[in-house]
Amino acid sequence: MTTTPTAEYKKPLPRPANPTLTKPFWDAAKEHRLIIPRCKNCSRYHFYPREHCPFCFSMDLEWVPAAGKARVYTYSVVHQPENRNFTEDCPYVHAIVQLTEGVLMPTAIVGCPPEEVRVDMEVVPAFEDVTTEWTLVKFRPA
Ligand code: ZN
Repeated sequence: MTTTPTAEYKKPLPRPANPTLTKPFWDAAKEHRLIIPRCKNCSRYHFYPREHCPFCFSMDLEWVPAAGKARVYTYSVVHQPENRNFTEDCPYVHAIVQLTEGVLMPTAIVGCPPEEVRVDMEVVPAFEDVTTEWTLVKFRPA
């Protein structure tokens, strides 16, 4: 799913704790590509982005394209958002998906009614260009 960025987008935008570390992820998202960090020492993937590998502590990391396939690991249907800017979206699905590479990624499930979302459902990335600066990585049914 692709949306057209608008000047009217009023919801909170991502505020990465480490903008330099996560810049490759957001730059790729703008190009509608999903990339994840991989350790060049032990070859394992991880997510969220870190300064070092969480398995072997190597700092020799690289960004690699993800296969773009995932399954819903867990989810919650939000009826009362913590932030009022999301009220008009309710109900919506906040989820954790597991990519085929094994990493877990927080996201939202779009493109189907919330009552159709199931654990283990196959999903693929759905990039939403919400502003000219930010593209959000959500997932939709495969
Ligand atoms: Zn490692």
